[in-house]
Amino acid sequence: MPELPEVETVCRGLALRLEGRRIVAAVQRRADLRFPLPARFAARLKGRRVISIGRRAKYILIRLDDGWVLLCHLGMSGRMLLSDGPPPAYEAHDHIILTAEDGTVLRFNDARRFGMMDLVRESELDRHKLLAGLGPEPLGNDFNGPALAAALKDKRTPIKAAILDQRVVAGIGNIYASESLYRAGLSPRRLARTVQGDRAERLAAAIRQVLTEAIAAGGSSLRDYVQTSGELGYFQHRWAVYEREGQSCPSCNGAAASCPGIRRIVQSGRSTFYCPRRQR
Ligand SMILES: [Zn+2]
Repeated sequence: MPELPEVETVCRGLALRLEGRRIVAAVQRRADLRFPLPARFAARLKGRRVISIGRRAKYILIRLDDGWVLLCHLGMSGRMLLSDGPPPAYEAHDHIILTAEDGTVLRFNDARRFGMMDLVRESELDRHKLLAGLGPEPLGNDFNGPALAAALKDKRTPIKAAILDQRVVAGIGNIYASESLYRAGLSPRRLARTVQGDRAERLAAAIRQVLTEAIAAGGSSLRDYVQTSGELGYFQHRWAVYEREGQSCPSCNGAAASCPGIRRIVQSGRSTFYCPRRQR
């Protein structure tokens, strides 16, 4: 499943090719994705100019010149594929195809169809049912130690579950929850409400750092995307703990005899990776 850094990389790649350009053709090959698509969806996209492309949590916001925003989510398996012209043939799961005035073709391909697209008025974006309850952007100015501490102060869940709660901070998924807690030296099992003061400062800083580093890795991947499949957003990135069960812990690095290496536990049905020595 794409996480926030992949979505940010998709946004930047789309912006490079589509910002400022007019959509001269739009094809819709089914009536629904995860949800039904809006009425006359393709017709409403055709002829519009893309003003800018941004992101809120893991939602892609494509702002159009008529005051509407094309809201997209990649779901579990959604892919944005760019090519310089029409592909030789559409793939089975190419659901939406947009052609820009310079011939650039964007295909939204989604085999499992957990992705979604909607058209929303710019002025109503913050009230959209999928965006209204979201907490602060982790890389935005409203997210910091005191804000995180305030959001956690009554929470009796483990901290891992709390930072996956999109009302606490928007866009953190399973990978970056583990990575952030490791960076901050906090046990994933710790009660969320005990993450106050310096602990909250450390965690907010760690969340920003791990996301910023992953986005930088995605930025390097953008430079080669045209040479490969034209697919935006997936890139190689080395995790400190994620999917490294049983491996040595990069922080203790074998120097500490009391570090057992990276452990995996299951919390709320999802894997958490952590170091029992470093994280308290
Ligand atoms: Zn360790």
